[in-house]
Amino acid sequence: MSDPIKATCHCGAVELSVTLSDGFNTARRCDCSFCRRRGAPAVSAPLNGVAVIRGADALTLYSFGTHTAQHHFCARCGIYMFHKRRSNPNEFGVNLYALEGVLPQDVEPVPWVDGINHPSDRSDG
Ligand SMILES: [Zn+2]
Repeated sequence: MSDPIKATCHCGAVELSVTLSDGFNTARRCDCSFCRRRGAPAVSAPLNGVAVIRGADALTLYSFGTHTAQHHFCARCGIYMFHKRRSNPNEFGVNLYALEGVLPQDVEPVPWVDGINHPSDRSDG
């Protein structure tokens, strides 16, 4: 695992300490109905790799469908911070661009995953 990285929302109410599973190698975009609107790519962290340093009371939760995925946002500025994954509930996805010092021009293009055809949405899955 990597060294902890600070992650902040835009207004500063929320601060996380994030220890990534495998650096930026796991960064992905998803094309599901939710993620494509949200826009931000996510990078993986184990469940014990995300600590809320500040602003736990400012975080708000959004879930839909199976409600397995739990998306946490800053209620003040609206920035997506992290989510518990449906594809792997044993890890978090963290907003790649909420991490301190990460700029799009340094990490793009981020690979895509096929969220539209998620196994949990198929009758044979
Ligand atoms: Zn905020």
